[in-house]
Amino acid sequence: MKLAARVGQVTPSITLAIAAKAKAMKLEGIDVCSFSAGEPDFDTPAHIKAAAEKALADGKTKYGPAAGEPGLRQAIANKLQKENGLCYSAENVIVTNGGKHSLFNLMMALIDAGDEVIIPAPYWLSYPEMVKLVGGTPVIVATDTQAGCKITPDQLRQALTPRTKLLILNSPSNPTGMVYTPDEVRALAAVVVESGIWVVSDEIYEKLLYDGAQHLSIGAVSAAVFDRTIISNGFAKAYSMTGWRIGYLAGPVDLIKAASTVQGHSTSNVCTFAQYGAIAALESSQDCVEEMRRAFADRRQVMLDGINSIPGVSCPKPDGAFYLFPNIAKTGMKSLEFCDALLESQQVAVIPGVAFGADDHIRLSYATDMPTIEKGVERLAKFVHQFV
Ligand code: GLU
Repeated sequence: MKLAARVGQVTPSITLAIAAKAKAMKLEGIDVCSFSAGEPDFDTPAHIKAAAEKALADGKTKYGPAAGEPGLRQAIANKLQKENGLCYSAENVIVTNGGKHSLFNLMMALIDAGDEVIIPAPYWLSYPEMVKLVGGTPVIVATDTQAGCKITPDQLRQALTPRTKLLILNSPSNPTGMVYTPDEVRALAAVVVESGIWVVSDEIYEKLLYDGAQHLSIGAVSAAVFDRTIISNGFAKAYSMTGWRIGYLAGPVDLIKAASTVQGHSTSNVCTFAQYGAIAALESSQDCVEEMRRAFADRRQVMLDGINSIPGVSCPKPDGAFYLFPNIAKTGMKSLEFCDALLESQQVAVIPGVAFGADDHIRLSYATDMPTIEKGVERLAKFVHQFV
């Protein structure tokens, strides 16, 4: 069969593939420690589930507006105003089938063939693939590990060309966990404004901050950058709602209307009754988010101490998200070989850094329980010991 050329340039999601493999091995009775997909192990908080159950019982089972239930669009706009200082109303928001889908809608609505999209590396593995799927050109900018894997204003300036359309900013970052400081965000905002490009800020990990790190949404820096900003976010990571598939995109009305048209011809609305769970998530107490964040903070410390005590492996302390991104170069292996051998011989599932544009690294998610973290890190140490 001759498939469309666009599919030929795109690689399948390694995170999803390795997570599925680890789950299948578990089902076979194999004792796997999975640090693969970034999926909180907590159940969705009970009040969120209850709100969706009530909506289901109340008959919220029909098609809804493609852009989302009006009540949820308004709740999201309120959240963005109150928490992020972004002056949006409901018409600036579209509810999507997860954060990934919000970014895909954005690419469909904004990127033309040949448009360049600047992506700082290490990057979340779906960014370049989405750009390619819509005919755009990903422009990967390597960042300095010593400088926290963050793109600098100078690096951004150097990557600009007349074809540059969009910068993808992701803080806290998947896969590194690093967080841009407010000053760093302001400095990047100045380049966005002076160059007249667009910036999409992927803020899916904004609630997962540690050691006093602060999240500043780039759109809140000034009115000028607000006009060039699009926000992508969702419910999966903060509220442990990965399987619900609810995300959102916020930005200028024209863009949101275009994304709604795309959505109207592709997925239609997000599951109607699930959206009522999302309203409850935003409008009820945020204590559940803080409880999970604290658990992640403890797990981060245990995993980080364990990994940094392994000779030959080193990892900086990240301020956000729930990932560690250690360097494994001293083992003499590239990341794919390392990850395959680790899963095969020790039944520990991690993601090869090559998928994120950093082949000397592996990514571990600590969004899993403490006994798994302790056992998995012990096995990792045993594995690395053979090579270093
Ligand atoms: N975003 C998560 C991760 O990077 C979930 C998997 C995926 O969507 O690729 O692990």
